[in-house]
Amino acid sequence: MSVVRDIKTLFREELQAQVTAWGEPAYRADQVLEWLYRHCVTDWSAMTNVPRSLQQRLGEHFSLQTLVCIRLRGSADQTRKFLWRLPDGAFIESVLIPANPALYGEPADRHTLCVSTQVGCAYGCRFCASGLDGWKRNLQPHEIVEQVLAVERWHRTQEGSERGANRGSGRLVDNLVIMGMGEPLANYDNLMRALRILNAPWGGGIGARKITISTSGVVPGIRRLAEEPEQFRLAVSLHGATDAVRGRIMPVNRKYPLAELVAALEYYQKRKGRMLTFEYILIEGVNDSPDQVPPLAALARRLHAKVNLIPYNPVEGLEWRRPAPAACEAFYQALRRAGVTVTLRREKGVDIDAACGQLRLRTEREFDMVRSGSGAGETPGE
Ligand code: SAH
Ligand code: SF4
Repeated sequence: MSVVRDIKTLFREELQAQVTAWGEPAYRADQVLEWLYRHCVTDWSAMTNVPRSLQQRLGEHFSLQTLVCIRLRGSADQTRKFLWRLPDGAFIESVLIPANPALYGEPADRHTLCVSTQVGCAYGCRFCASGLDGWKRNLQPHEIVEQVLAVERWHRTQEGSERGANRGSGRLVDNLVIMGMGEPLANYDNLMRALRILNAPWGGGIGARKITISTSGVVPGIRRLAEEPEQFRLAVSLHGATDAVRGRIMPVNRKYPLAELVAALEYYQKRKGRMLTFEYILIEGVNDSPDQVPPLAALARRLHAKVNLIPYNPVEGLEWRRPAPAACEAFYQALRRAGVTVTLRREKGVDIDAACGQLRLRTEREFDMVRSGSGAGETPGE
């Protein structure tokens, strides 16, 4: 049985090879790519300069799947959270974050999109909504790519005719963070294919240095990434600077304890010469004690890593809490005094369940209620 591949899993050379095998000139591939990645079309018949016969042939050989937005939530700081339904009924999320929120009504000038790589997550970090119901499946390359294209499409419908003036250069998303649902390095091959498509000049056109992959510390994946030619950025979800603290909240630490993680990161840096980021969620009474500051500072200095402190975003049904603002500030200042480059995030999107997996979880629970007849229906839109 042959599996139908989606057109958005293909590299340019592969599409060229296919169209020339059909006796068409190679430039037809570029026309198709332009429709897909620049105009973000959802239909073969929209490719108006591609002959009807080729449109038909493409449609017989490849699928052209698009994501359906079933819920869109906006936050006061302009963060927007998209919940998508995949053809098999699974839910995934993407979060759009303006870098400079429009404080006085002017447009925000940069946009970062946070994308998912799996449905659910097998890593089961104790504080995280994404892992609560376990892992369902890996996303295919086109399902990762399509999160960006679907947001671009949404943006175009928002701006309507105003955008006519800067069409072409008018992409919305210029930064990607692979920090949505799932562990990206556990879906390595599909992730790399998707990122290469999003990075390519004929594809998404997003610079490699503007793409950050976040991992919970999957050591073999970090070592593999060190060998890739692209200069993607790497963020590591540390959340604890000793095995005792990290192991309590992140089961992955049992498989890859800190010593092994640090060795892999040192290797990565030797190969890449890149600055790393440590993500460190502050959870009250778990990892916010001053005891964590010296080992965290030592790790950051040793690996030349910047530390991003993120006050924990509470998840319904989990007992963890964020520390008081003064405690977060004290932790931040202590790291600064220890000579670490550190930021304390004023969190975006707290009011819309923006932390990874939260909107999906809530929606799945609501859908369960609908199915069991105890809840109201949901309509798409803000
Ligand atoms: N699996 C990867 C990427 C997805 S998680 C990873 O763990 O790095 C992206 C980030 O969101 C991680 O740093 C994760 O620890 C963090 N996160 C998860 N749940 C959170 C919550 N409730 N509040 C704040 N950050 C959270
Ligand atoms: Fe998975 Fe990352 Fe959530 Fe851990 S924090 S459960 S690795 S998505």
